[in-house]
Amino acid sequence: MPELAYVNGTIMPIEQAMVPIEDRGYQFGDGVYEFVASYQGRWFMLDAHLDRLERSMRELAFDTIPRSEIKVAIRDLSERSGYPRAGIYIQISRGVAPRNHAITPDIPPQIIMTIRPVKEIPEEMRNNGATAITVHDTRWGRCDTKTVQLLANSLAKQNALDSDCDDAIFVSDQGIVREGTSSNLFIVTGDQLTTHPLTNSILPGITRKVVLDLCKTANLDVKESFFKTEALYGADEVFLTGTVTEVLPLVCVDQKPIGNGKVGPVSRRIYTLLHKKAMAGELE
Ligand code: PMP
Repeated sequence: MPELAYVNGTIMPIEQAMVPIEDRGYQFGDGVYEFVASYQGRWFMLDAHLDRLERSMRELAFDTIPRSEIKVAIRDLSERSGYPRAGIYIQISRGVAPRNHAITPDIPPQIIMTIRPVKEIPEEMRNNGATAITVHDTRWGRCDTKTVQLLANSLAKQNALDSDCDDAIFVSDQGIVREGTSSNLFIVTGDQLTTHPLTNSILPGITRKVVLDLCKTANLDVKESFFKTEALYGADEVFLTGTVTEVLPLVCVDQKPIGNGKVGPVSRRIYTLLHKKAMAGELE
């Protein structure tokens, strides 16, 4: 089955897809994106992802693109590739123009997408948990918009891998725990779950919202409030949430074991709830 790309209305093999060098996404990181994944051919929270995409575009004053156009492209890519568990990157740049910091008016946005099978979290990591380091959050002030400017995230992830850990957690200058390089973060302390509130400093994760709702229906006490690294190190459980990540426990942060250093019951329960509902197509 082919891995495909969509470039402004045309579908082709990924290797053949090209963008002009004067695309502002390439020159300035002037682009936004989304990543959506399917379970058994059904897209997880597609409209929530498209809401967020449209919000990112509005925040950067991009021209609007009809949602129907994006949905048709997703359907076509999906049908042509035939993957039951697919991941699509939707990337929209402001457009192509001679290089200039100032924004050239009236250039059409460029829409590119790729479809591939989802690269799953390894089974061993799901069962035994993952490890992380903390890093200073050096990202810009609008982390709530999903832009393609991911250099800080990419360097932090590599820093984690070079330290024999699986991921990095961004922490502010004041020690406030923000999120992972491509995920949100929850801590569990006693019966209390906590995650960072929605501000400009984190991405409003779709999985984060699904997990908040699942906690409420399962009568788990969850709050959105700031917490610092001491609370992270002292938590009974810590987990990351994200589209492919789903719910992934962290059992060690900065070489300190979390709780007893094993995957905890709350993380396991929430992962099972989310995964079952997603597989049953109840989270579309
Ligand atoms: N935070 C960041 C920085 C991310 O890149 C992602 C992944 N898109 C997330 C959180 C999780 O978002 P979602 O649950 O929508 O995948």
